[in-house]
Formats: sequence, C-alpha cells, structure tokens
Amino acid sequence: MRKPLIAGNWKMNGSAELIETFGRTFAGIELSSPVDVVIHPPFPYLDAARSAFAGTPLALGAQTLNPLPSGARTGEVSGEMLAEFGVEYVLAGHSERRQLYHESDEQVYERVIAALTVGLKPILCVGETLEERDAGQSEDVVLRQVGHVMARLEPGQRRMMTIAYEPVWAIGTGRTATPEQAQQMMAAIRGYQASFDSALADALRLLYGGSMNASNARELLAQEDIDGGLIGGASLKVDDFKAICQSAG
Ligand code: PEP
Repeated sequence: MRKPLIAGNWKMNGSAELIETFGRTFAGIELSSPVDVVIHPPFPYLDAARSAFAGTPLALGAQTLNPLPSGARTGEVSGEMLAEFGVEYVLAGHSERRQLYHESDEQVYERVIAALTVGLKPILCVGETLEERDAGQSEDVVLRQVGHVMARLEPGQRRMMTIAYEPVWAIGTGRTATPEQAQQMMAAIRGYQASFDSALADALRLLYGGSMNASNARELLAQEDIDGGLIGGASLKVDDFKAICQSAG
C-alpha cells in the first residue's frame, strides 16, 4: 500500500497570515487513514511555516532550488539552505519553471541530484502541452521527462522520488484531465519504471496535478495508480485543501 501524498504548491502567492491559518486549521485535522501532507510556500515564508506547522501533519516543501551548493547566483537558493530551514520536499521541473525559466530536462536532473545530495525528497513534475496531446505525443513526452531523471538515478535515490503528472493544459485552467486520462498516464509511468526497477515501481508515489479541487479530488484519487495530488489554486483555500486531504485519507 502506498501512503497518499497531498502537496500544495502556493507558487508566488500566500502571506504570513495564510501560513498561520494553515497551522491553526491543520493542528486539529482528523483523517480516517494516514496521509502525508506538504505545503510549498514561497521562500520568505519557510521559517514562519516551520514554526506554524510544528505539531501539525503539515510538512514543509520548497518550489525549486539551484543545483549549486553556494556561490555567485544572485536571487537563487541552494538545497543546503532549504534543508537548514526544515524543508523536506522540493519540486523539480514544474511546467512553469520549464516554460517561463526555460529549465531543460538536464537542468531538472541537476536539481534533483542537488536535492538528493542534501537529503531532500524531490517531487519531479512532468506533463505534456495541449499541442503535444493533440499531436498524440503525450506519452512520449512524459516518459522522456521521467526517463531523463529516473533512469540515471541509483536505486536508493529513486526511492526518495515522487513523480507528479501534471498535464500543462490542466494547470490553472479549471480544465481537469478525466480520471481515465490521468490513470492511463500514471499506468504508463509505473509501467516504464517497472521496466528497469520493478520493486520501486510498486512503491513509487504518483501524484496527479492540474485543477484538482475539493469536488473532483475523490474521483481522481480513487484511480488505481494515483497516489495523491499536487494542488495549486485550491491549496490557497484552507477549507478546500483540507477537504482534498480528507478525500485522500
Ligand atoms: C500546479 O501548479 O502544480 C497546479 C496543479 O496548479 P492548479 O491546481 O492551480 O492547476
């Protein structure tokens, strides 16, 4: 049995007040079965979140990291710094990073390695654009993005990984992949992983991301190969995010 993981990606949103609200709300949350829950706030809120989330089920995540441990990289943050602030998970390869900041598969791989080196758990984000889906290339694109990272890791490193399948056309658009479309891609990712590491394939957590909300979470999470969600917009509304966590637990 894979333990579900619900991750909230706040992107460049949120406030110190919202951190406090999440801390208070999740201090008393009841889940019928165990779920891992993580919030990825913007960097400046990490320290406040560490205090506010203490004693709650909320773990701390970051949205990106620089592959270097330190140096002349104005505006960047290293994995070591994140680890020092109690961060447990870090996103790598989110489509906004790939598209707006031109992060290539290789740069995503470098970030994953940097995260693993300091003991952070990477959440590798993959997904096809609408043009790629319409051209019938969805699976090729996604398995290329997965393979560029997973095929090059040691077995022990692979066990630290989570993969989030996020069709780019579903992110922030209100247009969700159908449970069947999402399940089909998850099965392809797990099948690919099984082709060279079958022990891991069974244990690997696969998240769906793309306009998941309190209304559609239960149906998506009920799919055989969907082990959780990566949630953007709905993770900024504490009651909605709590309801999604309850759908998983
Ligand atoms: C995301 O940014 O990872 C995401 C899934 O966003 P949204 O839930 O808003 O589509």
